[in-house]
Amino acid sequence: MYGNIIVDITHEKLDKIFQYHVPPHLDGKLEIGMELAIPFGVGNRQINGYLIGFSETCDFDPEKIKDIIGISTNRMAIEGRLVALAVWMKEYYGGTLIQALKTVIPIKKKEKSKEKKRIRLLLDLETAKEKLVFFESKNQKARARLLQALIAQKEHGTDCLEYQLVSGKLNVALSVIRALEEQKILVLESDRVFRNPVQQAKKENWSIDLTAEQAKAFRLFQGDYATGNYATYLLHGVTGSGKTEVYMEMIRQVVGGGGQAIVLIPEIALTYQTVLRFYRCFGDRVSIINSRLTPGERYDQMQRAKEGKIDVMIGPRSALFTPFPALGLIVIDEEHESTYKSEQTPRFHVRETAIKRGEVEGASVVLGSATPSLEAMYRVNQGEYKLLELTKRSGEQAMAKVQIVDMREELQKGNRSILSNVLSALIADRLQRQEQVMLFLNRRGFAGFVSCRTCGHVIKCNHCDVSLSVHRNERMLCHYCGYEEKKPEVCPLCNSPHIGVFQAGTQQIEDLVKKKFPTARVLRMDMDTTKVKDSHEKILSTFANEEADILIGTQMIVKGHDFPNVTLVGVLAADMSLYSADYRAGERTFQLLTQAVGRAGRGEKKGDAIVQTYSPDHYAILTAAAQDYDAFYQKEMGYRRWMGYPPAENLLAVYLSGKDEIVLETAGNYLKKFANKMIGTQDVKIIGPASPGIGKINDVYRKVLYLKASNYGTLIKIKNKMEQYIEINSGFNRIRIQFDFNPMHVG
Ligand code: ADP
Ligand code: ZN
Ligand code: ZN
Repeated sequence: MYGNIIVDITHEKLDKIFQYHVPPHLDGKLEIGMELAIPFGVGNRQINGYLIGFSETCDFDPEKIKDIIGISTNRMAIEGRLVALAVWMKEYYGGTLIQALKTVIPIKKKEKSKEKKRIRLLLDLETAKEKLVFFESKNQKARARLLQALIAQKEHGTDCLEYQLVSGKLNVALSVIRALEEQKILVLESDRVFRNPVQQAKKENWSIDLTAEQAKAFRLFQGDYATGNYATYLLHGVTGSGKTEVYMEMIRQVVGGGGQAIVLIPEIALTYQTVLRFYRCFGDRVSIINSRLTPGERYDQMQRAKEGKIDVMIGPRSALFTPFPALGLIVIDEEHESTYKSEQTPRFHVRETAIKRGEVEGASVVLGSATPSLEAMYRVNQGEYKLLELTKRSGEQAMAKVQIVDMREELQKGNRSILSNVLSALIADRLQRQEQVMLFLNRRGFAGFVSCRTCGHVIKCNHCDVSLSVHRNERMLCHYCGYEEKKPEVCPLCNSPHIGVFQAGTQQIEDLVKKKFPTARVLRMDMDTTKVKDSHEKILSTFANEEADILIGTQMIVKGHDFPNVTLVGVLAADMSLYSADYRAGERTFQLLTQAVGRAGRGEKKGDAIVQTYSPDHYAILTAAAQDYDAFYQKEMGYRRWMGYPPAENLLAVYLSGKDEIVLETAGNYLKKFANKMIGTQDVKIIGPASPGIGKINDVYRKVLYLKASNYGTLIKIKNKMEQYIEINSGFNRIRIQFDFNPMHVG
């Protein structure tokens, strides 16, 4: 038996794997992730390495293989536990071990530790101004420029200027700075900064009385935690029920006992306000990670965590791998969000990986959502997760009154506008009462489907339960089976000529609203208006300060913001996401509508929500309007079982891509043949190879093969065999192949 060992996991060169012989005295005692002592190099100097796997054979001359010396620590170091997690991810999601390790372990890039230099003015204002006059009289321009800038800074209440700014924008040489330093006018300071993204906030003695439901949820967790049990919990709480307060109480418990916690929040919901709430509670023992940090800054945050300088890490997906020494809790807020699935190999899901990490480290996982994913609720019903429920809003505010408007009837009544008559009347009413309105355009999953404006009929594939998408404005294509037909001139159901690709943008809605309500102050938030840094926050704070009456936007506006003065929410084209070629379309629609409707009436005043749709009878719309999660879950689960989709069954997508279409096609067919052989008599279905929604990007062709099985383990075994097959067959050399277990979209 041989052990595969990596010796340095904090540097980018992870790809060096060394083999060592397992001596008899260690036989059966080694576990993946363990830190081992090994002889290294010509002099056989003793160093430490991490065990990442075993082999029965060795790839080198067995005579030259050295023996492992021993286990270096009994307690697995944090790195070892992360290595073990990476090994699991490689197995569970496919890809190479290096890819998994790089995902899990904070890698030190060759980047200088960040040294910030700044220049501090040592004089008072008056003396400084005298000096300035002196420099100007001597025509010492650089000195004058620098001093002038420092004076301006001091007039704004700060003594310092960033060195970078001085040498760059102000174009002042270091020699000039040194000269002024000699004269004791200023001082050049520098220190190594661990950049802390949340600096200003102060810890407060902030306490809140939990509601009865919140307290009950917390106590269940507390009982387990106090007795050393870890588990996975699903906190299902309606919008505004105060899930965050429950998380914070749980974290307090964990931190109080010397543990640490990770809070995962989708990047889009990671606003200053959210972070501030944690900051008030835990002070500077909190840090955040987001996509704006440089790799160096990210590394620093991870280092602070490892050194015990913080207790709570907040961030999107990648924060899951924070190397805390005594991790006690992982919270995943908005657990249903699709961004929790990685789009890069290994294509891991945060939910599953967090639970695995919890298992490795003895930490609990709390999943929170107003609209739990089908997966999470399914696991609750299987007895794998414990359910915690918050059925009421924290201040007992009533949920909004929801009304569904059938847009087909609007058309019959002669209203061709995007806004129904009811919605227009309610907007006018709110403007008059000086209350606020949100108009939400459901554009998610928009894939150019064809629908009839008269009867609402959507054209679907004859062979699959998905809508067809339009290509080049004439042919309609099924993303699942490749079926194609010509776009019809009239509706096949009612013969109406009003059939076409449904399209309406936020811009058009803004124009219309401004024309119809000329006195209203209108804001728009979408991809276009949020390109500039901080514009997202700016729009939201303008609206929060009630400097605007109507906020129009895409799904961006429905996420986690409290606007107490919003008493009307209009959902336009509620069914737009329903007909994307995707098995999760119903679930996404339900989630979006529930979140959108949940925006209305968060304050004292009662709220209304209008849901405009061409499919008023669809269960996703009806159950969202009724705010009835259980009814939705039952219906949707029935559909998943019927179609054999996750979570009822497991689905493995194999994506193939390459520049040569023929080679790709051949490879796809070979891979399918091989998979079929591996499946043998097992209950696994293969579909494809088919073209995905976009069959070609940048001249790279794409194909996808689907494997469906009730048992995940069966799919892992087939995946492992395929990986071996691909590696030893040169026919796959020019093709990129990626595995995706239970993908978030199909097509
Ligand atoms: P959710 O995340 O479930 O939608 P939040 O945690 O954001 O809800 O809470 C909604 C609002 O209710 C917040 O303003 C929060 O401060 C307030 N809140 C939550 N719990 C309580 C409580 N027990 N007492 C008073 N206010 C609360
Ligand atoms: Zn029709
Ligand atoms: Zn089809």
